[in-house]
Amino acid sequence: MIYFEGVSKIYPNETIALDGVSLTISQGEFISLVGHSGAGKTTLLKMLLAEERPTDGKVFFESANVHKLKNGDITKFRRRIGTVFQDFRLLPGKTTYENIAFAMEAAGKTDEEIAADVPHVLELVDLGDKLFNFPHQLSGGEKQRVAIARAIINQPDVIIADEPTGNLDPVNAHDVVHILKKINDLGTTIILTTHNKGVIDSIGKRVITLERGKVVRDDKEGKYAL
Ligand code: ADP
Repeated sequence: MIYFEGVSKIYPNETIALDGVSLTISQGEFISLVGHSGAGKTTLLKMLLAEERPTDGKVFFESANVHKLKNGDITKFRRRIGTVFQDFRLLPGKTTYENIAFAMEAAGKTDEEIAADVPHVLELVDLGDKLFNFPHQLSGGEKQRVAIARAIINQPDVIIADEPTGNLDPVNAHDVVHILKKINDLGTTIILTTHNKGVIDSIGKRVITLERGKVVRDDKEGKYAL
């Protein structure tokens, strides 16, 4: 589904962020991407989202070279990938319901679709009772679950979760991982970056380790080995 073919990225200041990365990610996989700070994880995710161009090599999503897509097609392509970040990125002046509705409106959904789907997705992330809370009325773990609900509401093929547990205590981190696993079980491909050993070990799926821009390990049922 996702193919990196000899992808290198050298930033204009001559930092080599990725160095000949080749990878295949199949539909339905749950990938943990690990590596020390500066190893190239974020750059790899930006390559996939077509936010950065490779200096060398190609990135394919199914049969499309993502760096050859035209502007309109990039917008459509990015809708197939939901994103979740360490800092949640919720709109502070909007309720849980409105944060998710906003993502649906942006994708052209009708009010009827929004009214039908938002409560349903909030049940999936165990937040059925927090529809009308604003972000400041939610705990960190709850905010991240709203962010996950927003990421999946338009039924993307892939979820990219960049350090989603980075700001959470172990109990909330566990809840977030549990929900990501549930979403994966429903068929969505997950690509997660994390520094959290407990998180990796509890997932028990493929672990790709980056070091100085290179893939140095690719374990089918990995344990955290840094
Ligand atoms: P990670 O996410 O694993 O911490 P990054 O992909 O953010 O790693 O960074 C990889 C390397 O590229 C680091 O040395 C970082 O300093 C450098 N880097 C990242 N973004 C830029 C940029 N926009 N310009 C220059 N160097 C960058």
